[in-house]
Amino acid sequence: MDMSWWRKRTVETRVKRARSLLHRYHDVDDEYDGLTVNPYVGCSHRCVYCYATFEWKGDFHDIVDVKINAAEVLVRELAMLKRRFVEPVFLSTVTDPYQPIEGVYRLTRRIVEVLQSRGIPYYIFTKSASITRDLDLHARYRDRCAIVWSLTTLDEGIKRLLEPGASAARGVLEAMRRFSEADVPVGINIDPVIPGLTDGRGRLEELVERAADSGARFVYNGVLRLREDIWERFRELLIEEGLTEAYQRLVQLYFRDGRRAGPYRVPPRDYQEDISRRVRKTSKKRGLYYGIPVGEGELIAPAERWRIKPLTCYMQQG
Ligand code: SF4
Repeated sequence: MDMSWWRKRTVETRVKRARSLLHRYHDVDDEYDGLTVNPYVGCSHRCVYCYATFEWKGDFHDIVDVKINAAEVLVRELAMLKRRFVEPVFLSTVTDPYQPIEGVYRLTRRIVEVLQSRGIPYYIFTKSASITRDLDLHARYRDRCAIVWSLTTLDEGIKRLLEPGASAARGVLEAMRRFSEADVPVGINIDPVIPGLTDGRGRLEELVERAADSGARFVYNGVLRLREDIWERFRELLIEEGLTEAYQRLVQLYFRDGRRAGPYRVPPRDYQEDISRRVRKTSKKRGLYYGIPVGEGELIAPAERWRIKPLTCYMQQG
């Protein structure tokens, strides 16, 4: 393997015409399924732990397919939907909708405009601060959308190693503050927490505190899952960067104490529970909701506070 793959910055763009856009998805624990739209296939954020290189395509980080007719396909698919009610749409499950190429093609923006025109709620998941460009767009729809930043660490050095193409943590927090000031529901997903790199005592707690200071209303977390190709990248990165302790910690937790869960290796349950307990505790202290407002059940209690109504409230118009 090319030892410098994670430092590569040039990304090839391939313009394509999509045949379909609106798809169902299942989350990693199969706890929730819903609707998703992916305007791109591929992502230049180049996260070392990205699952998509295996799930979707090996060159996921190097070639970004642009679904140039995405908005038109979505209009057509929504017009054909037989149901009167729709779930919120998740942008996106297998790409970052605000990766740099969005600045050129604006597909996410056009998709959001289509969803808004049909009264459909949506969630944006991103690692990018460039979403601020569309602040007005989302702010006018603040009672039917939520923005979730995937923010794994405040340590900019570690962040650059793990997610070299993504925005700096300070940029994300600043973007979150601006959305929060515009009364858009915002939160963070600390996922994945990476043993030996981002899980240090006090680090997760500080991350939750800083998110709360920046206007977050909800926080959630997940722990790294390793599959072969991810481990291959991770191992090389850690060795080249001389992060021996982190390397040993991952070997210990995943290969000695951990277990297999489907195609992934996961750390012991008590490690995962301890991480969740720490994040939950600080969230509670700061009055944040612990979870992502995706499932119908989760929406019910906080709906009024967030002004996101239960998903069945949204009847399609037109
Ligand atoms: S932002 Fe998401 S899709 Fe993009 S490289 Fe990172 S993990 Fe993969």
